[in-house]
Amino acid sequence: MIDYHIHTQFSKDARQTMECVCKQAVGMGLKEICFTDHCDLNPSGQYFDFDLDYTEYTEEYARCKEIYGDKIIMKKGLEIGLQSRLLDKIEEFLKDKHFDFVLGSIHYVDRIDLFKENFYKSRSKKEAFTEYLCEVYECISHFDDFDCLGHLDVIRRYCPYDDKSMPLDEYSDIINKILCVLVDKGKGLEANIAAARYDLGNTEPSEDILKRYRELNGKYITLGSDSHTPDQFAIDRHKYLTVLSDCGFTHITSYSDRKPCLIPIDELL
Ligand SMILES: [Zn+2]
Ligand SMILES: [Zn+2]
Repeated sequence: MIDYHIHTQFSKDARQTMECVCKQAVGMGLKEICFTDHCDLNPSGQYFDFDLDYTEYTEEYARCKEIYGDKIIMKKGLEIGLQSRLLDKIEEFLKDKHFDFVLGSIHYVDRIDLFKENFYKSRSKKEAFTEYLCEVYECISHFDDFDCLGHLDVIRRYCPYDDKSMPLDEYSDIINKILCVLVDKGKGLEANIAAARYDLGNTEPSEDILKRYRELNGKYITLGSDSHTPDQFAIDRHKYLTVLSDCGFTHITSYSDRKPCLIPIDELL
């Protein structure tokens, strides 16, 4: 099994160290892990809400790889927060740094963290979800320096509505546009399995959207726990391979030096 979305002490909202993750992953018999610590510019673009100390991160990664690198495949990744107003600055941040994998995620819309209640106060559900999806589309249409789109329907985690669903048929125009950009650019789509923690079913995005990406000939699907604490990391990932298989995927994707590599799901089950 492989996990392509893991936060460590280099993300200020995480409570697990890189070394503990390695130890736990080896103990669980995982084949491969990819660290994806946060880097999120503040909406002003002047400072970071989630800063990544790239030098320390790189040193700690090298140290852990020295200890665990012969027991498990390790990858150095990043979860980069995308904001359509700040794409130049984000590109600037990435340009002199090396990662195996860059997960592009949208955490802010209209300068507001989706986590914050005030985003939802002046908008109906339809408006909030549409505005969020339009921001995703803007970001990925005008930005190329990412490999895979993270948790496509993350707004469902934080929105205050009783019905948190984002059915494909209700938002099909904008979701199809997003998926087509991903397919045209050869970018991946993440199946984020934190969905269960938020009571949002099996995956984020939900299976209807994963299936649609596959129907559009999308090839690169990654599987990530989005874990910030050890208990979130230690989940049964096997059932999710079956979910992906049921959505039409025969392979999941790993990345080295920003290049995708397809791993047959059969080999991991
Ligand atoms: Zn995220
Ligand atoms: Zn994350």
